[in-house]
Amino acid sequence: MYKDVALLLNRIKHQQPDIVGFSFYFWNQNLNNYVVQQIRKLYGSDVLIVFGGPSVDSDQAEQLKLFNNFPEVDIFVEGEGEAGFAAIVNSALGGEGTLYGSPIDCSLYFQDGQLVKGENTSTNLNLSNIPSPYLNGSLDQFLKAKYMPLLQATRTCPYQCTFCVEGKERARLRAFPLEQVKREIDYICEWNRDRPHVVLNLAELNFGIHRQDPEIAEYLREAADRVGYPRSVYFYQDKKFRESGKQVISALGHLNKDGVIFSLQTDHPEGILAIKRKNLSNEMIQDGISWAKANRVPVTTELIFGLPHETYGSMVDLLNKCVAQGFDSIMVHNLILVEGSELAREPEIERWGFHASYRLLGNNSAMLDDTFIYEFEKVVTASDTFNFEDFINIRCLNLMFFSVFQGSFFKYFFHYVKSKDILLASFFHEFMNPSNAEEWPSAYFQFVKDFRTAAVEELHPDLDSLAVAAEQTYFTNDGVVEPARLNPYFYSRLMYRERDWIETVLLRVFCNIAPHLDGAEISEAKNILELCGRLVVDLRNIQPCGGEIDVDFDPNAWREDKFHQPKQDFATYEGSVSLSITDDRIEMLRSFCERESHLDDKDFFFVAVETLFPRTVLFYDIDSSGLESLPHKNIEDTVINHSPTVFEESVTINALVSRSKSSDPEMD
Ligand code: SF4
Repeated sequence: MYKDVALLLNRIKHQQPDIVGFSFYFWNQNLNNYVVQQIRKLYGSDVLIVFGGPSVDSDQAEQLKLFNNFPEVDIFVEGEGEAGFAAIVNSALGGEGTLYGSPIDCSLYFQDGQLVKGENTSTNLNLSNIPSPYLNGSLDQFLKAKYMPLLQATRTCPYQCTFCVEGKERARLRAFPLEQVKREIDYICEWNRDRPHVVLNLAELNFGIHRQDPEIAEYLREAADRVGYPRSVYFYQDKKFRESGKQVISALGHLNKDGVIFSLQTDHPEGILAIKRKNLSNEMIQDGISWAKANRVPVTTELIFGLPHETYGSMVDLLNKCVAQGFDSIMVHNLILVEGSELAREPEIERWGFHASYRLLGNNSAMLDDTFIYEFEKVVTASDTFNFEDFINIRCLNLMFFSVFQGSFFKYFFHYVKSKDILLASFFHEFMNPSNAEEWPSAYFQFVKDFRTAAVEELHPDLDSLAVAAEQTYFTNDGVVEPARLNPYFYSRLMYRERDWIETVLLRVFCNIAPHLDGAEISEAKNILELCGRLVVDLRNIQPCGGEIDVDFDPNAWREDKFHQPKQDFATYEGSVSLSITDDRIEMLRSFCERESHLDDKDFFFVAVETLFPRTVLFYDIDSSGLESLPHKNIEDTVINHSPTVFEESVTINALVSRSKSSDPEMD
């Protein structure tokens, strides 16, 4: 088994293989193709090339396309790999004559111009019969090389989302034996006891769905306490947040850095039916959010723009609804047509009128010998229900949601805006669409223009054009591609490089969008903007103390309430708070600065927001201990009187959650 292309090719050069199997997903298809070409150059057709993985569709028309797209591949394996690959090896052992003698289970190949398909038996495999690759030492080389360990306890997903490669599988949920999973945990933890920062990745589609999952979560937590590893675990939780899902989150405790994630994707009623997704009801979401807040766990939603029936308006409504529901973090992704998913099939593309463009997949590109390799994604940029302008406008909202909810950019200010019953999506839209009729700072116009231009220029009508552009940039920048992740890059500009105008512009947008506000409210907004600006640590000139700032409310108490109640509920007598950072944080920031000081501002700040985690380290802590609270209204009164912004049912139930004192920045 190889992950490193150089090691694999080196071995192949010295020893001709009989069969080479590749795991095949959209993120490694060009790299795989490159290796196949090298093998063909060395040994011609003497080596059997097999591709298998989630991007092999179960639909015959799509399977035929695979043979066109990857003409050097001899056999594609459908479904889970073990049964199919073992069947191929078994057939091959009989020699050339027997290999294609009869259909091979789970395999697809061409013979005499005809597609030959074996029966897909892959999910009949009893997981108790698969030896653990950890426990038999097969994965030691990867542990040694410090790759992120993956642990799998269950297989298959009972849901059928058409945008996902897992949605096409129709099989029952199966689990590996619990004792084997526990021994694998012990094994992985022991290997990594000196590398506690390495994240343990649970390769689970719905962690919490199986009855043994809470016990696995508890075991992980015990192992972490005993061995010191892991310190963080990454996973996707069960979409239905049932009791076992809550048990898993509770058991993992601090190992779970991402909190609870309710991935709604869309809530367009026809869209949900079209993609065969089953979302949680509003009541279940409210219950989940209340539970998460009571347990001081952050709660996030992920949305996809571009699914069938979605319009610009329906997505904006959903974004505003998510803000009102009290999600701590809201992520918006673009719809990607992933090879092997139902939505990426030709008839589906026609059915929904999808138009797609190509863009680089992250920074996944490299030179191997003299060949430039890059990976790409196919992004839906228009459909029967939205156009390209809508796509770009959602991209603009996406930047702002990312900056505020994931990056805590001027967080207090935007929660203040929200508390004035101003819809955040509307505010963000105004901000990213400055009117030419008004006089704005030219740098602000430039910022918006740069973002819109970058969002258009990263898209290419075909792969040839993308390849030329990516390679050109690669050489121009001495082997570094431009930041393909626009959100963090432009977030870093807002945080550090656009400070001359940001506060003035935000205040003006606030006044424009809510002309009814009185002088006191505008002055309150101005003070909060000043506080937000002062909270950002100047990374080029790190000072342990950020000074004092006058306030008339307790910012920590408001934050600990997760901004659910309006700011006036946290009113204090006039006083001041002091800003500071802890010694270990200073050390961490200074060591970053020393390491990266050679970079110009553009790269320096981008690298900072991409590597310094959690992002709360970019801000000063607030000491509000000297403040004295004003007597204020009973919270229950506020719950009853505060009208929900977007929809009718109560969105304020979480206010009843007790305000326990904690200053854990991870929980923000
Ligand atoms: S998106 Fe999640 S729930 Fe839906 S099919 Fe894929 S893995 Fe299953």
